[in-house]
Amino acid sequence: MSEVLTEKHISPPPLTALTDDEVLFRDNIRQFAEEAIRPHVREMDEKAVFDRAIIDQFFQLGIMGIEIPVEYGGGGGTFFEACLAVEEISKVDASAGVIVDVQNTLSANAFLKWGKNNKELQKKYLSRMAKDTVGAYALSEAGSGSDAFALQTRAELKGDHYVLNGRKLWITNGKEAGIFILFATVDPSAGYKGITAFVIEKEFPGFTVGKKEDKLGIRASSTCELILEDCKVPKSNVLGEVGKGYKIAIETLNEGRIGIGAQMLGVAEGAFQYAQKYAQERKQFGKPIADFQGIQFQLGQMATDIEAARLLVYNAARMKDAGMGFVKEAAMAKLFASQVAERVTSLCIEIYGGYGFTKDYPVEKYWRDAKIGKIYEGTSNMQLQTIAKLVMGK
Ligand SMILES: Cc1cc2nc3c(=O)[nH]c(=O)nc-3n(C[C@H](O)[C@H](O)[C@H](O)COP(=O)(O)OP(=O)(O)OC[C@H]3O[C@@H](n4cnc5c(N)ncnc54)[C@H](O)[C@@H]3O)c2cc1C
Repeated sequence: MSEVLTEKHISPPPLTALTDDEVLFRDNIRQFAEEAIRPHVREMDEKAVFDRAIIDQFFQLGIMGIEIPVEYGGGGGTFFEACLAVEEISKVDASAGVIVDVQNTLSANAFLKWGKNNKELQKKYLSRMAKDTVGAYALSEAGSGSDAFALQTRAELKGDHYVLNGRKLWITNGKEAGIFILFATVDPSAGYKGITAFVIEKEFPGFTVGKKEDKLGIRASSTCELILEDCKVPKSNVLGEVGKGYKIAIETLNEGRIGIGAQMLGVAEGAFQYAQKYAQERKQFGKPIADFQGIQFQLGQMATDIEAARLLVYNAARMKDAGMGFVKEAAMAKLFASQVAERVTSLCIEIYGGYGFTKDYPVEKYWRDAKIGKIYEGTSNMQLQTIAKLVMGK
């Protein structure tokens, strides 16, 4: 007869289990998102404008500098906590989620990792980002998306300044940001080895924010063109080393992808919360539709998908915090969580029937918001390419 399972058979808590502090952190953010964001979601989506007062509250709560060291005014927390925050906020609104995500997992993270050789730069900008300044990450251009290193924006050294010319496209937080990590080439003939990361302030002469995109989903998150016309950037505002921008771009995006996985996890969970409640309230044929096996199977499958996405996202975030290699796991987390988000939100609309197709109910917005997960910070094809390379040992 097989032995009864006891404590001694149970392995240590999985990397995905939350500590007491993390539970407290998550619950605080959950409460804030419900009280301060939820009431404004529909209006912000319709107007395609994010309420600045909510961003100010993000700063007051420390949500915009989760990993920034305490000495710079940040929370001194972990990457895992940043992902938890993105997940919780995205349950309520994916636009709010991506604002927090780009601030923490891309912009602040780039300064944390690559600003080590220039402490003054690191301190100056991380202090501002912890206090009141939104960050943005500007890599893509009209002609260079998946092939990001084909970028054309040019940086020429003239005395103690670089002069930048070019245009960036699709830049999240473009409207709200005060600080931009922007990639340009100092030597187009050097290919990717000319790419350099610059820190640009909104007020720098020659820098303007252009057209804001009118989008299908995450409508309240601003996505803008950036225009650089003889934009003067001090030499000291090179992040990392000249010619090493490609490394910064790749490695920061590897981390950021876990954040997008967390955003998509939140989107799936947010829609599911509505659908499982609705299924128990909506009556057809004299009973709640949740009593029909067809609906139960859909709910069961969605819950399983969400749990699997959570395990991938949490595991990748824990691996990053533990200093382990996480590139494959990050790509898998983003790939799978964005597939789950699209699948789950679509089914949630179906559970609502005709009502789900209208803007009177919240689920159609979750579906629109889910679509972006397969596109930004590397399309699903790019994630698959990374995973395939790594499993083949290349
Ligand atoms: C809402 C939004 C916010 C964004 N925010 C930012 C931001 O803050 N900062 C930033 O720098 N960028 C941002 N982006 C840009 C985003 O990262 C790019 O859109 C994305 O990388 C895809 O590039 P692309 O749009 O040029 O598509 P393309 O690269 O032209 O891809 C088109 C299609 O071809 C496929 N494809 C391309 N190459 C290959 C290949 N080798 N093998 C197989 N398939 C391939 C792609 O998977 C895709 O399906 C944002 C985009 C959007 C829409």
